[in-house]
Amino acid sequence: MAIDNCPLCGGTELELPYPSTLAKGKKAIAAGSQYHCTSLGLGIHPDIFRCTACSMVFNEAAPECGDVAGQYAQVEDPEYLAQRESRRLTFHRELDAIEAEQRIGDLLDVGCYTGFFLECARERGWNVRGVEPSRWAADYARNELGFDVFNGPVEQYRSDQTFDVITMWDVLEHVPNPVEVLTILRRYVRPDGLLVFATHNLDTAVARLFGRHFPLFMEMHTVHFNNRTLQMLLDKTGFRLDRKHNQKRAVRVGYLISRLRRFGATPERIATAASRLMSVEDRILWTGMVGVETYFARPV
Ligand SMILES: [Zn+2]
Repeated sequence: MAIDNCPLCGGTELELPYPSTLAKGKKAIAAGSQYHCTSLGLGIHPDIFRCTACSMVFNEAAPECGDVAGQYAQVEDPEYLAQRESRRLTFHRELDAIEAEQRIGDLLDVGCYTGFFLECARERGWNVRGVEPSRWAADYARNELGFDVFNGPVEQYRSDQTFDVITMWDVLEHVPNPVEVLTILRRYVRPDGLLVFATHNLDTAVARLFGRHFPLFMEMHTVHFNNRTLQMLLDKTGFRLDRKHNQKRAVRVGYLISRLRRFGATPERIATAASRLMSVEDRILWTGMVGVETYFARPV
């Protein structure tokens, strides 16, 4: 499946600002693991195009794997479970922001993965449901945490229920059809409700600084928005931007060190030994400025 149209405006005149780095990254990532939430494939990507008409930046999803939906269905990522504590801190911080704008009620989390965000929301009184394509992750959310989760892509989700809040954490950049996905969500958000999503933005200082070396150019990320294309996406799908903020993330020091595996086993071993000596392995750091923003949008 070659890309010849812009997924936002349908434009056919494309330029190639970020050529493929796949050959360089082959050694670093095991086949299939590029779809994991904990993927090591930072900065490793196929050709990334830009639409000359609207400036949308995007790439072909998984040129070698073919069926992307099938890849997500098969994802198993036990390493993610070890991040529960730090993910929960990040999610509670986001819920503080959501509850400043919206009364607690019914919430749908799209791409809920193992259900850690649902767990945080339920603790605060939200009535929650999830949608998740990975069978492994959906089963974890259902069986270990007791959530009502639809296992499949959001395009196949059907319900009569509408929601006060719909959330999508780090999901939008994975979908090849963002207009279709937000059009679907527009049906499920109540007129006075809120759509909340986090994704990276090419207009952030860090993305501008890194340029073509921006680490979030990854094989599993297919669309890369900027301020203008995000606005276009919301206009097209019946939303207006209410507010946005730079997303801060809690990260365990030990997890950051494990990312060094990309550079071989030795740097990771040295860093692990050093952090144990200094007993910082379990320390939590808050990272901002990674180029990810959280957007609050209202239905028009
Ligand atoms: Zn375009």
